[in-house]
Amino acid sequence: MTDDAEAAFSAVADELRVRILRELWDADDPLSFSELRECVDVQDSGRFNYHLGELRGLFVEQTEDGYDLRFAGRKLVGSLHSGVYTETGGMVGPQSVDGTCVLCGSDLEAVYEDQVGKVDCTDCEVTIIQTGVPPAFVDGREDDLAAAIDGYVRTTSRSLLDGFCPTCSGPTAGHLAENDYGPQAVVNCERCGISFSGLAAWVAVDHPAVLSFYDDHDRSVRDTALWHLDWLADAEWVDGAAGDRATVEVRLDDERLRVTVTDDLAVTAVDRAQTD
Ligand SMILES: [Zn+2]
Ligand SMILES: [Zn+2]
Repeated sequence: MTDDAEAAFSAVADELRVRILRELWDADDPLSFSELRECVDVQDSGRFNYHLGELRGLFVEQTEDGYDLRFAGRKLVGSLHSGVYTETGGMVGPQSVDGTCVLCGSDLEAVYEDQVGKVDCTDCEVTIIQTGVPPAFVDGREDDLAAAIDGYVRTTSRSLLDGFCPTCSGPTAGHLAENDYGPQAVVNCERCGISFSGLAAWVAVDHPAVLSFYDDHDRSVRDTALWHLDWLADAEWVDGAAGDRATVEVRLDDERLRVTVTDDLAVTAVDRAQTD
């Protein structure tokens, strides 16, 4: 972070300025100087003008129609609404989850605790899914945490695989790697440096060939929770040894679909056949 970051944070380190930003967020249209001052409810015009001036440029713009939030201002107020800077603690669950542990077969449970969402085994140490989430994540989703965690992880991983870092929006690049669980998909952000890794077969979850395979068998891969996609853990290296291609087989009824994931995490060589 640079001096620019310090200047930006100090520009909003004031309760009155945050109120100005929130009022502009709540307004349907740009506000004139006097309308905005009335909303914020500050009598002293000079003081108000000073604080508004500190926000102009990066967070607030003045157009012919009045004052409005710039992109940075909307991002800032949006992150205040997410609760990520203002709400610590908090817990929802644990709730029982439809599904069983891939390792020991015991029941699963979902829990939200202090900006972390998790689907865990109730018996062994396996964590099926763990993800950082803002407090707003549980808003209205308290009754089905498991579905919320499933949806959130799919959304962020889709963004990563499509080339957009969910943390900073910078470009991402992926490759295959080996670990104890077999082939892994590793995605790095080229801007902020954050790194994510998951099972290689994950890359195929949203692939059109997989979607239509499920569809042809009257099922929906999108409506199937990740912990019910048992093939996610089954990817193997092509030719057995760790290399630049991994393959996984999806089986439904009397048919199988084999997809191959290349080193840059593209899905190629889709092969579909009847099983015996
Ligand atoms: Zn277990
Ligand atoms: Zn990033």
